[in-house]
Amino acid sequence: MLEKILACFEFLKTTLIYIVYPPICPVCEEIVDERHQLCESCATKILKLDEAKDFPAPISGVMRITNYRNGTRRLLRALKFDGNTNVLKTLQSTLYGVTRRPEIDNFLAKVNFATFVPLHEKRLKKRGYNQTELIFKDWLLAQNLPAENLLLRTKNTPHLYDLNPQERREVLKGAFTLIEGVDVKGKNILIVDDIFTTGATAAACAEILKSAGAAKIFVMAFASDFGEDKIA
Ligand SMILES: [Zn+2]
Repeated sequence: MLEKILACFEFLKTTLIYIVYPPICPVCEEIVDERHQLCESCATKILKLDEAKDFPAPISGVMRITNYRNGTRRLLRALKFDGNTNVLKTLQSTLYGVTRRPEIDNFLAKVNFATFVPLHEKRLKKRGYNQTELIFKDWLLAQNLPAENLLLRTKNTPHLYDLNPQERREVLKGAFTLIEGVDVKGKNILIVDDIFTTGATAAACAEILKSAGAAKIFVMAFASDFGEDKIA
């Protein structure tokens, strides 16, 4: 009898949670079947833009995992600016949700190793973590792709979201340097970042790696609105 009551209670609890807090697509916030799952529309919008001509040189290709929309904006901002690491589970589930898609596998097959866009040590100290590393590191290792920090951010640049592409390039001049002793000669490197908007940050990192002898530079971003109309 007690078991039946408990099972009934459990069912009611699950139903209530579902009604009050339904599973939503982490990108567009439409209701979906399972928690942390992308809706069909968002799942098909993963971009693979190898050989694209519009990326700032010297980037050879960019892969974005999601669009930079309502849900992802909120999640990434919560992680970056509110110190809310609870959102990591949703971000990582989204990442694992696209694993084994041929676009991702083919893209990753082109690179020798991955590195993260670094934070300046002051920002790192304040935030306590590099959000990109938190989102991607375990996942990259699970894809058998070694990921390590190759770059340092020597200039504490302001947040870039209010700046236009030209201003971003200016601010980012001399912002990065290669960590001493790192050898990237002849390697194809994947720069990983949380957001790819104009590509100015990734391009500044790419230039350092290229001038140190790297062969090709690719970028993977959790979210991107590159080439789209911006949402206010
Ligand atoms: Zn969606």
